Amino acid sequence: MNKVLVVGAGGVAAVSVVKMAMHPEIFGEITLASRTLSKCEDIAKNVKDRTGVTIKTAQLDAMKVEDTVALIRESGAELLVNLALPYQDLVLMDACLEAGIHYLDTANYEPEDEAKFEYSWQWAYQERFKEAGLTAILGAGFDPGVTSIMATWVRKHKLDGIRLIDILDCNGGDNGKAFATNFNPEINIREVTAPARHWENGEWIESPAMTHKYEFDFPAVGKKNMYLMYHEELESLSTHFSEIERARFWMTFGDAYINHVTVLQNVGMTGIEPVMHEGTEIIPLQFLKTLLPDPSELGELTKGKTCIGDIITGPAKDGEGEKTYYIYNICDHEECYAEVGGQAVAYTTGVPAMIGAAMVMQGIWREPGVWNTEQLDPDAFMDMLNKDGLPWQVVELDAHPEF
Ligand code: NDP
Repeated sequence: MNKVLVVGAGGVAAVSVVKMAMHPEIFGEITLASRTLSKCEDIAKNVKDRTGVTIKTAQLDAMKVEDTVALIRESGAELLVNLALPYQDLVLMDACLEAGIHYLDTANYEPEDEAKFEYSWQWAYQERFKEAGLTAILGAGFDPGVTSIMATWVRKHKLDGIRLIDILDCNGGDNGKAFATNFNPEINIREVTAPARHWENGEWIESPAMTHKYEFDFPAVGKKNMYLMYHEELESLSTHFSEIERARFWMTFGDAYINHVTVLQNVGMTGIEPVMHEGTEIIPLQFLKTLLPDPSELGELTKGKTCIGDIITGPAKDGEGEKTYYIYNICDHEECYAEVGGQAVAYTTGVPAMIGAAMVMQGIWREPGVWNTEQLDPDAFMDMLNKDGLPWQVVELDAHPEF
């Protein structure tokens, strides 16, 4: 098995495909397909310049299942890596079932006309993938993805279970723009304007968006304000690790970012309901996306580091009470750009997607069914993170921080 089809040609795909081309022993033939062919061709040129590898490109509207099935058959791919948008998850899973190939994505399904994301839609495919003998891996980016695999690794090697988990996502990078999002603006703004939600003692606790703030001193970055948010891996982690007492997700934002989002929200620019503008129907958030910088073009401008990881407390493996570990990766925007031509947010998603794909291609993650990343053995994935540009560290803390 060595042929892969990647769908979507944005910032994340631009990194993932370069990294796949660096592993010809795993990804023998790469086809990249997306709605806009020229974006695939730009990525193909970057891949050729950096690695000497020629990849195939194709135009595809992934919403048309039959077109995807035909392309899968033509490409001979055995795995489809979905790096398009969360709206395409279900149609691409349908196409994989019809064509009989494995599936992997980095974000859970979200209906385009509802600001709601949850795993129920994709988990409903469990039996169909199992019966077909096919594997679907959900959420193999950094968060979700690496942060869940890190939790599994700590649970396998250091702790007998997880009582408390805080996922901390810090982007200490600066691109010099007054306001720009690090990945798809539409998805990013839908995420940050949603109410915050965390898991505590068997129930979801909801609070208004961006109201819980805490200043944390991040390794290699320094002090940053982080905000409590809802993030999709909280749902899968609390489902699959039923012992978890409290699971929270935090992301850093600068004051300027928060001010811009607040104003845009107040004036209705983040809305997803269609409005009439001079006789034409527009969706405000999609119009806003048109105005904002394209995240895939921020690489050259961005300086600084990201620090993403988990603080986890639970019963120690050696039976000596509780222990707390902080497991994290530090990634440098300028180093990413020098290596692949993308910034660290695309890099920290694109590299894990490549590694997850490598796990499937090599048969390491090949159990039939639909799996979140914390349900899979973490060791080979964690080894490859160290070798492929996202080295991680684990340190013991005196106690779980109070925040
Ligand atoms: P971009 O918006 O940069 O790229 C998305 C790509 O998908 C574009 O090339 C777009 O085409 C293509 N696309 C959209 N609709 C279709 C369609 N119907 N058929 C074919 N192609 C389509 O997004 P990113 O690269 O920033 O993000 C990619 C994915 O990664 C998203 O799902 C995002 O949520 C996820 N993500 C996950 C993270 C994680 O850590 N787990 C972190 C960051 C992102 P066109 O160019 O024509 O618009």
